[in-house]
Amino acid sequence: MADVCKNYIGGKWVEAQGGETFVSINPANKDEAVGIFQRSKTDDVVAAIDAAHAAFHAWSRTPAPGRAEIVLRVGLLLEEHKEELAILETREMGKVLDEGRGDVQEGIDMAKYIAGEGRRLFGETVPSELRSKFAMMVRQPLGVVGLITPWNFPIAIPTWKIFPALVSGNSIVFKPAEDTPACATKLVELLEEAGLPGGVLNLVTGYGLEAGAPIVEDERVRMISFTGSSAVGREIAAKAGRTLKKVMLELGGKNAMIVMPDASLDLALEGALWGAFGTTGQRCTATSRIILHEDIADEFTGKLVEHASKLRVGPGLDPDNEVGPLINEKQLQTVDNYTRVARQEGADILLGGHILTGEVYNKGFFYAPTIFGNVHYRMRVAQEEIFGPSVAIMPVKSYEESVQVANSTQFGLSSSIYTQDVNTAFRAIQDLDAGITYVNAPTIGAEIQLPFGGVKSTGNGHREAGTNAVREFTEPKAVYIDYSGKLQRAQLDVEQHGA
Ligand code: NAD
Repeated sequence: MADVCKNYIGGKWVEAQGGETFVSINPANKDEAVGIFQRSKTDDVVAAIDAAHAAFHAWSRTPAPGRAEIVLRVGLLLEEHKEELAILETREMGKVLDEGRGDVQEGIDMAKYIAGEGRRLFGETVPSELRSKFAMMVRQPLGVVGLITPWNFPIAIPTWKIFPALVSGNSIVFKPAEDTPACATKLVELLEEAGLPGGVLNLVTGYGLEAGAPIVEDERVRMISFTGSSAVGREIAAKAGRTLKKVMLELGGKNAMIVMPDASLDLALEGALWGAFGTTGQRCTATSRIILHEDIADEFTGKLVEHASKLRVGPGLDPDNEVGPLINEKQLQTVDNYTRVARQEGADILLGGHILTGEVYNKGFFYAPTIFGNVHYRMRVAQEEIFGPSVAIMPVKSYEESVQVANSTQFGLSSSIYTQDVNTAFRAIQDLDAGITYVNAPTIGAEIQLPFGGVKSTGNGHREAGTNAVREFTEPKAVYIDYSGKLQRAQLDVEQHGA
């Protein structure tokens, strides 16, 4: 029997008021329950917001270096528990163990990086136009913030939001994805162990409409930071508009890798395999389109099919496996449905295109690495996010056409180009319509010290991580200090010099 885990509200582990629970299962083995979790509803969310609201004043007055010390301690605890967390992540989310370790490492990196912000949180000082007057901008916390996260990076994504929100002095209501509540619970346990005061962070587990939507609707929550699907992101932004709260959205992608004829094809091949099939294609930055110059298209496609056919698919805890399962039955059906769509639209199925079966595979949600050939940029499989191990091959005649095809979707998260020509590389950096561009690397592999996010329908103009992180979680306040001892009128009493 799996453990029953509770919500964390006001510094106490509590059951949902309705008494209902749900089970989180291992996607590599449906019979294995990872844990039993509280099915929270509006009452629980309101209690969490009450607690966050009550804790805000004292937390926001705690000096930022002190707040950051706690975040650093969590980072060190994550380091100590890295292997245990990576195994939990593989059991709950399915990614292969090495990638589970990478996900935890990203949380550690974020803790170490953002803890330094506790001693920066830079404002600005600027000259005043008047004598004996001082002008500056300081950063202040927003208040209660609501953090709603997906399942594909169950440790890293929560840390991208929680750590900068805490260093910035906010209190938090955190609603993790219903597919990965065990990872979220473990992270919150470590925050408690690190000495975070009760009420500063509150965890409510449950489903989107029941436990996520009430956070968005509550007037006291001043910001929603959401990572997930574009459909839900649009709904959240519309709803949040009613209470005029800030909304930071990190949504889907349909990321393209361009391979030019002068590229190192072996390097591009390695990148394509990692970008398309790593994390079973369940990354918002996954390489889901490979745009090949016609001069190398046949050769590259042949090699890609050959190498992808050798990828070892299976449970992520087995170190021999390179590709794990999909997250759940629904996603398995969605990915399979896109193969049908590809066929109907006239694409060739060069590899895979089916649910895997057999003793090991029947226990979980395993899909064969899939390559669609002869894909036109208007086809649905070239336009819509599949979020699985399926990649579209798109031949083009020129650099100009490759950019036009790459930019032809509603999304704009990540992009990549393989070329040895420095001029082509710099042109692509300018031309590719995306929040991230890689040169001679696939579309995945972001580091936490640069801003992360996308253009067009991938988001609404915000960025996570990097120096942006604390900017997003604070309000700038302009401060004027007049020490002249008299009334000085801006714009009117200004001294004019020169002609
Ligand atoms: P999802 O949108 O279904 O769910 C994300 C979270 O929102 C979950 O916690 C869910 O319970 C909650 N939710 C669902 N409906 C809600 C509602 N009406 N109100 C409030 N909360 C609600 O997404 P998912 O399936 O968990 O994640 C996959 C998606 O996330 C993909 O589209 C992927 O591209 C995207 N993603 C984006 C990034 C990025 O940074 N751009 C990173 C990772 C994943």
